[in-house]
Amino acid sequence: MGMKVVFVGPPGAGKGTQAELIVKKYNLLHLSTGDMLRAARDAKTPVGLKAEEYMSAGKLVPDDVIIAIIKERISQPDSDRGFLFDGFPRTVVQAEELDKALAAQGTKLDVVLELQVPEEILFTRLAARGRADDKPEVIRQRLVSYREQTEPLIGYYQKAGILKSVDGTGTIEEGFARVSAVLDACQES
Ligand code: AMP
Repeated sequence: MGMKVVFVGPPGAGKGTQAELIVKKYNLLHLSTGDMLRAARDAKTPVGLKAEEYMSAGKLVPDDVIIAIIKERISQPDSDRGFLFDGFPRTVVQAEELDKALAAQGTKLDVVLELQVPEEILFTRLAARGRADDKPEVIRQRLVSYREQTEPLIGYYQKAGILKSVDGTGTIEEGFARVSAVLDACQES
């Protein structure tokens, strides 16, 4: 079975960009709840339309919606290959539910990578990206949601002994070298 990795970090830390490089190098499934929600929104499914109200305001989509999507996804056989969660979990409740769902499958997370980037840099990176939820007032709300609801995950995974923090500043290549070093060590152990 492949590695099971979670990527945590504020919006703009470079999770999506690094995730794409990592899944290629380590042959993992890329599971991005943001991408799943945007696909549901574009397909105008009931879940997608409900999620859009939160996404366009920079707020987190309710835990029960996210947990249902993820449980369905990890029950599919291809997840044996190993996966990288990008943008999930974003609350301690989501993290607890993920632990339970994996335990029920007889498995667990191998490593949680935290990408650390100072707030001033995040704002500049997000403003340059131009996604629908990258307007200044929505960016501010997304950073607030991160600090209040997602940052407690760092302590949660630190206690679990699987947290690795990585400097996410500098170029994409520099970030990828740091992330790869952590994953290489994890794969060997
Ligand atoms: P992202 O592409 O990861 O930045 O996610 C975009 C938006 O989708 C977020 O601002 C949230 O509104 C929503 N979202 C994505 N993943 C989650 C999650 N795990 N929990 C709650 N909301 C989420």
